[in-house]
Amino acid sequence: MKFVLASNNKKKITELRAILSSLLPECEVMSLKEAGIEGDIEENGATFEENSIIKASVPAKLGYIGIADDSGLCVDALDGAPGIYSARYSGGGDQANIEKLLKELDPVPEQQRTAKFVCVMSAVFPDGRIITARGETYGVILREQRGEDGFGYDPVFYSTDLNKTFAEASADEKNKVSHRGRALTLFSEKLKGIIC
Ligand code: IMP
Repeated sequence: MKFVLASNNKKKITELRAILSSLLPECEVMSLKEAGIEGDIEENGATFEENSIIKASVPAKLGYIGIADDSGLCVDALDGAPGIYSARYSGGGDQANIEKLLKELDPVPEQQRTAKFVCVMSAVFPDGRIITARGETYGVILREQRGEDGFGYDPVFYSTDLNKTFAEASADEKNKVSHRGRALTLFSEKLKGIIC
């Protein structure tokens, strides 16, 4: 069975491929490029759910099972921001996003720096059927960066499950508790119910 992952983010594709192939070993997971789909997909939805369905619909229109995630960081003291705007929060890259976040949170005391990562996975089938699954993981935003691994906001997200930042965790440790890992576990159960 061929799935096309509607993302051009290399680290995310690697992470998703590792989790999906252990959950559904019989499936082949291709990137947009490998399926010959060029260009960026405009994410103009208002929720994680809407954005992931918009992305997964692109390969589905070409006859593949489209899979996409939409994810982001929701910070309580910022009323859920950056949320669906996490990737483009500062207008710069990961480092600029972290710097903007730390600046915004500078006046916020330790006990109010709670946050969660959210991930919504969607599959859209060529016949129009849709599956979605949501995963969340909880932590606090530190005042300084710790660790070298991961991507995005990982160096400032101190996971309450792991008692370290996501950037200090191995890929396996992160996948077990991450929003994406949790969404994918639920997602693969729903998917198995349909395709197996
Ligand atoms: P998306 O590609 O539209 O889903 O944007 C997700 C954005 O949220 C990324 O660019 C990161 O800034 C952030 N993000 C999502 N998941 C993670 C994660 O596991 N670690 C760190 N940052 C993440």
